[in-house]
Amino acid sequence: MPARTGAEYLERLARTRTHVEIQGETLAGGMASHPAFRNVVRSYAELFDMQHDPAHRGVLTYPSPLTGDPVATSFLIPRTAADLAKRRQAFKLWADRSLGMLGRTGDYLNSALMALASAADWFGQTDAAFSRNIVGYYQKVREEDLLCTHTLIPPQANRALAGSQQAGGALMAHVVREDDNGIVVRGARMLATIGPFADELLVFPSTVLRGTPEDKPYSFAFAVPSDARGLRYIAREPLDYGRSHFDHPLGSRFDESDAVVVFDDVHVPYERCFTLGDPELCNGFYTQTHAIEHMTHQVVARTTAKTEFILGLVSLLVEAIGIGQFQHVQADMAEIITTLETLRAFGRAAEADASLNSYGVFTPAWAPLNAARNLYPKLYQRFPEILRKLGASGLMATPTEADVTGPAAADIDIYLQAATLSGAERVRLFRLVWDTCISAFASRQALYEYYFFGDPVRMAGAYVASFGTSPYADRVRDFLNRP
Ligand SMILES: Cc1cc2nc3c(=O)[nH]c(=O)nc-3n(C[C@H](O)[C@H](O)[C@H](O)COP(=O)(O)OP(=O)(O)OC[C@H]3O[C@@H](n4cnc5c(N)ncnc54)[C@H](O)[C@@H]3O)c2cc1C
Repeated sequence: MPARTGAEYLERLARTRTHVEIQGETLAGGMASHPAFRNVVRSYAELFDMQHDPAHRGVLTYPSPLTGDPVATSFLIPRTAADLAKRRQAFKLWADRSLGMLGRTGDYLNSALMALASAADWFGQTDAAFSRNIVGYYQKVREEDLLCTHTLIPPQANRALAGSQQAGGALMAHVVREDDNGIVVRGARMLATIGPFADELLVFPSTVLRGTPEDKPYSFAFAVPSDARGLRYIAREPLDYGRSHFDHPLGSRFDESDAVVVFDDVHVPYERCFTLGDPELCNGFYTQTHAIEHMTHQVVARTTAKTEFILGLVSLLVEAIGIGQFQHVQADMAEIITTLETLRAFGRAAEADASLNSYGVFTPAWAPLNAARNLYPKLYQRFPEILRKLGASGLMATPTEADVTGPAAADIDIYLQAATLSGAERVRLFRLVWDTCISAFASRQALYEYYFFGDPVRMAGAYVASFGTSPYADRVRDFLNRP
């Protein structure tokens, strides 16, 4: 089956009976029409449609090795620099469409599945079936163009304990029994963004597991359909309040729901399991398969798109109210430009230093990507801060669309005019700035950028430990010992 259209994504979603708890309501499907999800689902459908747009399909698709039909470029196993560049172009094209605000577009986890399936031999270390399973699953997701999400971390009950020790081991999702054709999973995982409207849930390892027999039931990687029996999502309060695009330009389009995942004795057939009962393999899941490089390659393309949006937004704001001549404003803009150029440089360096890995996959260099993933969570936090500082009281002079077209229209036109914009145009712009730096949607974006790839504090610890600082220490030691 070729890459899906938006209509095909929506048709499948209409048949999917995902169990979602939201605001006291129990849903069994119907996400495409539910007020909490319908607008973001439409944004996702537009991405699928782009795959069929003559202007984009050359970048967004390639011929399936199985059928020759066009399938999404994010599944392409890169063998050359040109393949890697094509993947990046496809990531960027999709990211630009949402201004980088959609963090869980399918290309993120398609990239992971591509790398995992390419490392099939690694999965076969304990059982050849796992290697067949990961390849079969990757092909299924590619050919059916399924939208996947993932869930990694244990519930946040008590971080002083290992996840597997919380509440006597009952909280964190674990295997309670095996039967002739699969495993039964009980417990919870903390979060799955877009879970309610994804086709598939990847239940992958994340936190470091101890190599002890007690951690074996918590050691697995598998995939289930979002509407698997016994699987429930508990969604957070929506940040799309059903307002117009004028009033909530981002929240009304891009509110990716986040949801707690509960496994109430979910049966997972063996053919959907990729590793079982092996904490050591789980701990090496992303690094030894090189999935992490390909996921981060997508992330850098998306965060580049997002930073370009922020720069464009700040430029319009500065121009609108005539503050471009002030030096501190220029310093703030320079900071955004520096972040943008830093991301671009990391992306280029990762591709320039790419090499074939042991599975024959042309893989972007990890060092620049690792630097990017350690930097951006912190750098992004400055953007809303800069927007608030430069927008100042203008961010509160933000009447709604009903005011702009209602009895206050004349006042708004006169008193809310900007140096370069009419009153109505200025309100439209400032509402976008507000939705980027002040609204609940904006706060969730800042939290997302800070945490979605892991805790920056612990990432920093792993970064330092893996970097190898001794040559530099030796050089200084030599200097100190110079006569
Ligand atoms: C908007 C959003 C969307 C997300 N989407 C997903 C998703 O789709 N799928 C998914 O699996 N996950 C998702 N996550 C979760 C994300 O992976 C985690 O937020 C991240 O790994 C940090 O873990 P935590 O939130 O449990 O923080 P915690 O581990 O609970 O940390 C809380 C605080 O305690 C500190 N702390 C805790 N333990 C330690 C320690 N050992 N050493 C030092 N400091 C410590 C942390 O630094 C932090 O300040 C999402 C998170 C957010 C915010």
